[in-house]
Amino acid sequence: MKTGIFGGTFNPVHCGHVRLARHYMEGARLDRLLVIPTRTPPHKKAVDLVSGAQRMEMCRLAFEQLPGCQVSGLEMEHPEKSYTVDTLEALHMQYPEDSLCLLMGSDMFLTMTHWKDWQRIFQLASLCVGARETDLDGRLEAEKIRLEQLGASCEVIPLEPMALSSTEIRRRIEAGQSVSGFVPEKVEAYILKYGLYQKKSSDLTAKGSR
Ligand code: ATP
Repeated sequence: MKTGIFGGTFNPVHCGHVRLARHYMEGARLDRLLVIPTRTPPHKKAVDLVSGAQRMEMCRLAFEQLPGCQVSGLEMEHPEKSYTVDTLEALHMQYPEDSLCLLMGSDMFLTMTHWKDWQRIFQLASLCVGARETDLDGRLEAEKIRLEQLGASCEVIPLEPMALSSTEIRRRIEAGQSVSGFVPEKVEAYILKYGLYQKKSSDLTAKGSR
């Protein structure tokens, strides 16, 4: 069996994530794709992070349409930072016969050799990357060659980039702008229902009194 792993903060999940996953599922003939929201991201500072339960629920709403896609709480069980290598070791124990493949965007791919135990990651899983920006100028192909010389197995997905980020979604919500078309409809409804990412009235008061 071929198992794809798509980790991220998903704060919130957006259409760029879903598009990458869908394209990958179709092209790579995966048996399953595990979407694994991280509890505390090790690679970047978490800004305005909503609860793990809320991010899990938004991922369920976003990915439930994709056949073979499951949202996993594996990293939510860890009280401390979750490292990809530990998640892969756990999945390797759970599915010893499976070939594992890590799905990611270009920003992550270009930093792979800064990740904890990246050599072990290369042993445990192949890497699959989709571009996020249009102006990468062959950097993904060059990095694929470099990483393969270091023992990785990499695939670059031929997908038109969608320059969308959770940061941009949070910024729009905070500014009172619509995120319609940027996040799946059910996720938008969830964000509105629970008032996620909105500027707190205390922030508004503080700014207003300056
Ligand atoms: P933030 O803006 O908060 O940093 P993000 O949009 O980068 O968040 P993450 O949850 O950190 O989202 O990303 C999870 C994974 O999805 C990462 O591998 C990331 O590279 C990838 N990804 C995010 N947005 C896109 C996109 N628009 N196209 C392709 N891959 C993406």
